[in-house]
Amino acid sequence: IDKINNGLAGGNVVFSFEFFPPKTEEGVENLFDRMDRMVMHQPAFCDITWGAGGSTSAVTLDIANKMQNMICVETMMHLTCTNMLVETLDGALDSVKSNGIQNILALRGDPPHGQDKFVTIEGGFSCALDLVRHIRAKYGDYFGITVAGYPEAHPEVIGEDGVASEEAYQKDLAYLKEKCDAGGEVIITQLFYDTDIFLKFVNDCRQIGIKVPIVPGIMPIQNYKGFLRMTTLCKTKVPAEIMAALEPIKDNDEAVRAYGIHLGTEMCKKILAHDIRTLHLYSLNLEKSVLGILQNLGLIDFSRVSRPLPWRPPTNSKRT
Ligand code: FAD
Repeated sequence: IDKINNGLAGGNVVFSFEFFPPKTEEGVENLFDRMDRMVMHQPAFCDITWGAGGSTSAVTLDIANKMQNMICVETMMHLTCTNMLVETLDGALDSVKSNGIQNILALRGDPPHGQDKFVTIEGGFSCALDLVRHIRAKYGDYFGITVAGYPEAHPEVIGEDGVASEEAYQKDLAYLKEKCDAGGEVIITQLFYDTDIFLKFVNDCRQIGIKVPIVPGIMPIQNYKGFLRMTTLCKTKVPAEIMAALEPIKDNDEAVRAYGIHLGTEMCKKILAHDIRTLHLYSLNLEKSVLGILQNLGLIDFSRVSRPLPWRPPTNSKRT
């Protein structure tokens, strides 16, 4: 939050990159190399996701610790309550704390694969609000806490017609305010492709007294199938003109990526024009699209990357 506030106070646009834990050791090595290159563009922070149901907990913890101490970037680790005993959550929090990480994205999480409803395990938490309260109660102000926000309401309350009822949307907003009142200092949103929905959401949050930065989560379209999978999973509204633009190029990955950069740039321009100067870029562990958008916006300049690489062991050595 300090980095966001300082950036905004200095009149800057604050941006950040999200990554997920790769499945193989080689993938992790590649990710660190990519992060090194991306971090040279000076994001305010980078974050690493927590696999559904804690499935990646060991890898996520390891990557988070190395991001903070080896890549040397301000790091935020996602943490979900699904299938996690309080002692296990504390184990993760103690581990990142001992490694100097000060930022947590506190989430409920989705049901584990094969289960369609979230079920609270015995001795576990039932929602992100429980986790936010717990972190504040046990760790005081040590952690900066971010929470998730849903411009179209949480997918669980989005109906067959693709929209949430006004009542469900308002309930979701009121609950988001509770998460902020309990200690959430930043909101990062679910991906969206209709920028007007995001702008309305920000306005609605402000109307009910949510004052914290609301950071739009921007996911550049990088390939057609992945885009369809993600928007279906998250029940994201896709404006007709986007589908129309994609239809003739859907089998051409290069053209889809170029369109994704163009669309992402236009979305960000509109957001920035409304004086919202924070951007969170879902990188999907790839650099071209997110850097392409930032370059189009004039926020990074490849010819002026001067940050020396932080110390790294030779790439063929085993990381411990
Ligand atoms: P909550 O904030 O607990 O809310 C879930 C839903 O329940 C909302 O509709 C809320 O309104 C409702 N609700 C809960 N409690 C109450 C209450 N007391 N009163 C009223 N309504 C209530 N998933 C992962 O597994 N790993 C990740 O790393 C990850 N990262 C994410 C990052 C972002 C930015 C976002 C937006 C989502 C991420 N997710 C991740 C997905 C997330 O875990 C799911 O969307 C999950 O279903 C909800 O998590 P939450 O923290 O938003 O839940």
